[in-house]
Amino acid sequence: MPIATVNPATGETLRTFDPLDAAGVERRVAAADAAFRRYRTTSFAERAALLRHAADLLEQDEESVARVVTTEMGKPLAAARAEAAKCVKAMRWYAANAERLLADEHPDEADVRDAGAATARVHYRPLGPVLAVMPWNFPLWQVVRFAAPALMAGNTGLLKHASNVPQTALYLEDLFRRAGYPEGVFQTLLIGSDAVEGVLRDPRVAAATLTGSEGAGRSVASVAGDEVKKTVLELGGSDPYIVMPSADLERAAATAVTARAQNNGQSCIAAKRFIVHADVYDAFTDRFTAGMAALTVGDPMADSTDVGPLASERGRADLEELVDDAVARGATVRCGGARPDGLERGWYYAPTVLTGVTPAMRIHREEAFGPVAAVYRVSGRDEAVELANDSPFGLSSNVWTRDDSDVEHFVRDLEAGGVYVNGMTASHPALPFGGVKRSGYGRELSGHGIREFCNATTVWRA
Ligand code: NDP
Repeated sequence: MPIATVNPATGETLRTFDPLDAAGVERRVAAADAAFRRYRTTSFAERAALLRHAADLLEQDEESVARVVTTEMGKPLAAARAEAAKCVKAMRWYAANAERLLADEHPDEADVRDAGAATARVHYRPLGPVLAVMPWNFPLWQVVRFAAPALMAGNTGLLKHASNVPQTALYLEDLFRRAGYPEGVFQTLLIGSDAVEGVLRDPRVAAATLTGSEGAGRSVASVAGDEVKKTVLELGGSDPYIVMPSADLERAAATAVTARAQNNGQSCIAAKRFIVHADVYDAFTDRFTAGMAALTVGDPMADSTDVGPLASERGRADLEELVDDAVARGATVRCGGARPDGLERGWYYAPTVLTGVTPAMRIHREEAFGPVAAVYRVSGRDEAVELANDSPFGLSSNVWTRDDSDVEHFVRDLEAGGVYVNGMTASHPALPFGGVKRSGYGRELSGHGIREFCNATTVWRA
């Protein structure tokens, strides 16, 4: 894939970039390693001051960087601004909380004596340079979600961003530099995916985190496994959105539209499979379909736009194949199901609702990365759980009910990294984020996330 900015709203190539050559990669890995040796000894207060400065700069840059993001990957400008603001919040949160999250842990006195020690504690130390392989769908947030905790823990970061968001990648490197981080603490590697293996095998690189497709995750994890290096993987999702009879249907349907169409439908935690109890199936599906059909599709720079183009021509083709397969196997198109009229230049796809989806269709097992919803009718709670879990993925899940026993049941049985009740999945710095099954492993955000790239060191003293 060429490293280039190609505007998804027009298909026009705006800028291309030469990938770093081997010597350029070597310089940067060496700089990350050298920077780590000094940076790891800085205090939490010093790191927090740097991260707060980066947050302030990003806040000032919100409008300009949002325009870069929208130009490179097509999300509505308002969503790009909100993404930048979310990054600012996460940076400030980790600046305020990292020291507490990584404070020494002291086991019970009796256990310390039992271990034959006078004192014993767990002390968190950074691992070293961490390679972050990141996707284009939230090109600021995915990076900051890694970088804020990793840098607060004392690691250094090497970013291999998706090839279609090079200007955002360079902006991020520049942001950390302007904030005053020492040279080498956070760098962007403009490289293709074929160069990732070499970086990961470099002994100076300690660990890797990847957000993206299952194929990319498998590839990075197998190289890291071969090198015995820690990885965190945040891969795809096909989150269920279960609507039970006691749900507030107006809110459930309105939120379902946002949950499916956010980010032009290209979010790992978007609700993708709508599993609706028969008692409320018609009422919910009619409202949901009306909401999806009413979305304004168009120029992502326009304030009136709800849904912009997909990020790539390939992405749209993949989505079209999933819809065509479902229709060929008997699904009904309730709205959309085609490219919208009058938007021939960009990679647009109309918000789509498919009903009558069955496990025989590809969309049942594959991630629909665009504004396409698959709706199922179920007769009860057990069937809802069975259908929800009948997926290779297990990222998050959504449940709409006012019945506490439903909630307990779903929390116990849904195979997912999150259960969001009467709302849609959204990440927050204080809450762990990640999945099970083919959605990956490890956690980002919260104390769980910051400890992923730490060495939990036992300090035992006689
Ligand atoms: P990819 O997973 O291919 O890209 C994500 C990142 O991984 C990019 O930086 C990419 O680099 C890199 N990468 C890709 N293949 C490898 C590899 N073999 N070794 C090392 N790094 C690699 O996502 P796509 O953009 O191709 O999207 C394909 C599908 O992935 C989507 O339709 C969606 O289903 C899923 N996806 C899920 C995301 C999520 O948030 N869960 C985010 C993005 C995609 P490069 O750009 O240079 O190829």
